[in-house]
Amino acid sequence: MTSIAFIGLGNMGRPMALNLVKAGHQVAVCDLDQAAVAALVAAGATAATSAGAAAAGAEVVVTMLPAGRHVRSVCEGEAGVFAHAAAGSLVIDCSTIDVDTARALAAAAAAKGLQMLDAPVSGGTGGAAAGTLTFMVGGEEAAVERARPLLAAMGKTIVHAGAAGSGQAAKICNNMLLGIAMIGTAEAFALADRLGLDRQKLFDISSTSSGQCWSLTTYCPVPGPVPTSPANRGYAPGFTAAMMLKDLQLAQTAALTSGASTPLGALAAQVYQLMVRTGDGDKDFSGIFETLSRTP
Ligand code: NAD
Repeated sequence: MTSIAFIGLGNMGRPMALNLVKAGHQVAVCDLDQAAVAALVAAGATAATSAGAAAAGAEVVVTMLPAGRHVRSVCEGEAGVFAHAAAGSLVIDCSTIDVDTARALAAAAAAKGLQMLDAPVSGGTGGAAAGTLTFMVGGEEAAVERARPLLAAMGKTIVHAGAAGSGQAAKICNNMLLGIAMIGTAEAFALADRLGLDRQKLFDISSTSSGQCWSLTTYCPVPGPVPTSPANRGYAPGFTAAMMLKDLQLAQTAALTSGASTPLGALAAQVYQLMVRTGDGDKDFSGIFETLSRTP
């Protein structure tokens, strides 16, 4: 049994914290939303008044927050995690944030005598509830080994990607690839529609040809060929277009600062911006098929 502070009980954090409670750990929770805190307390967690207060009594602190600025505000400052966690504590940030912030926070944590990992996840809210998330972890080997049993209570695949920031790097590289592949898949179906080619025929051919990819065979953006894909439920998420846009923008920031050439990543960010700006940010990102089909 480990004493854990869990900060950020949103769509992902809530089920992840619940899995830690179910695994028998002592979990102190903190969120700006008191209803989210109350739900976890009802399941066996204890409520903390601030991130720092939660961290003060914990061996391990887990954060699951929207973006880099939220993680900074929770970790730094007088009421923050770094000021209150005991020396030797382990901080695991599972949020998807920019690589530079992840590296800066890891350095600041080390200066305070704390271990810190960036451990963003893949698998969505379904994976969080089922405890089947994939963790992409950046940081020192010893800290990763210390975190492994706790991560295993929330996920089934744990990959040590490299030094601090490498987890975030892996996450944005993967999601940039996914965004580009989904747009390509949706464009192929939009073109097929205009050419009068049956969608199922295109699926049957491309899924066994060189166009085969996850966006086609697992997450097909048109209704029909893959019954479990969001296209069959009005593009209810899944993974929202707004979240995909956030990750594509993080990839572009990283490309700019590192000097990488990612022209298709840049274009993919603009295409998802179009989807979000036209009011579909809350739909699943595979709904980009509708956005493209509407374009004259
Ligand atoms: P969310 O917006 O549902 O939850 C964020 C929570 O953080 C909210 O409950 C909010 O009240 C809380 N919060 C914000 N600032 C706080 C503060 N200062 N102190 C305490 N609590 C604070 O977001 P989510 O969907 O749970 O996503 C969390 C992270 O996981 C994001 O970085 C996201 O990109 C990533 N992610 C999400 C998914 C997904 O499918 N939802 C999948 C993979 C990764």
